[in-house]
Amino acid sequence: MKGGKAKKCKKCGKRAVVSLKNYKISLCQDCFPPFFERLIERDVKKYRVIRENERVLAAVSGGKDSVALLSALSALSSNFNFHLEALHIDLGIGEYSRRSAEVCRKLCQELGIELNTVRLSEYGFTISDVNTRKVCSVCGNAKRYIFNRFARENGFDVIATGHNADDILANFFKNWLAGNRWWIEKQMPRTEGFDRVVTRIRPLILRTEKENAVYVLTKQLPFLADECPNAPQDRWKEIIYEIEAKIPGFKQNFVRNMFKESKEIPEFRYCSVCGEISTSEICQFCRNVMRYGQIAMVARSSAESSEEVAKKE
Ligand code: SF4
Ligand code: ZN
Repeated sequence: MKGGKAKKCKKCGKRAVVSLKNYKISLCQDCFPPFFERLIERDVKKYRVIRENERVLAAVSGGKDSVALLSALSALSSNFNFHLEALHIDLGIGEYSRRSAEVCRKLCQELGIELNTVRLSEYGFTISDVNTRKVCSVCGNAKRYIFNRFARENGFDVIATGHNADDILANFFKNWLAGNRWWIEKQMPRTEGFDRVVTRIRPLILRTEKENAVYVLTKQLPFLADECPNAPQDRWKEIIYEIEAKIPGFKQNFVRNMFKESKEIPEFRYCSVCGEISTSEICQFCRNVMRYGQIAMVARSSAESSEEVAKKE
């Protein structure tokens, strides 16, 4: 909050820790978490995000959004009667990956939720082997692939991700400018699966980054504050932030109205190597496995041979 007289919580009168202009409300540390969870509950009901008895797999990285996602879903799971587990992917990004795995372990222990872990290295490469400027697109593709395959092979009905309104808006502008209109179809609170693609849900799609951050802080949940070392500077998020400062509620209104946009899905086929859904002969993930798996293999064998030379000397 800015300087001046401290605001009071609208619910209990204690000192407020956050003022949300678009709801015209100030709340204290104790009253914000239930307020946030009620907002999620309202959206889950309104958009029929989760159905009764579904098996939900939440994608967790340890960042504030996925931590907020898992905690809010955990609070909802008994009322809505669904089964909840978490999946963490170890991407092999050095210290960052080690710390995010640690946060996920701690969080799941605190919330009493089963944590599943898949290592990208099981597929023959890690994100540290990716020597291109498009590292995030290789990483994003790997995450989508592994989440989908793990969920399907382990009997989950839906995959939940922590995408927030800021992410959706920034991606909207980037994709719109690149001419990817069909992309909008995927950015719904719930996108039904088809064939080998598992249903996706985005329960935080109307929540802002700020709301998620305040939630994890006021609920004192473990989270990883550090960003991935590969994270690009996102100018669109800065622009969106400035618009929101001038027009409170802009982000949520924009995203809500996006749900009404038209739908157009690209044609798909099956990857000739692994059989997963793909838009080309060999899916992007298998192409990455071939390319970076080879790089990783060469790196390992040259490290081994230099060790042997050192031993002989
Ligand atoms: Fe992966 Fe890029 Fe995100 Fe890092 S910033 S986790 S490399 S997508
Ligand atoms: Zn209060």
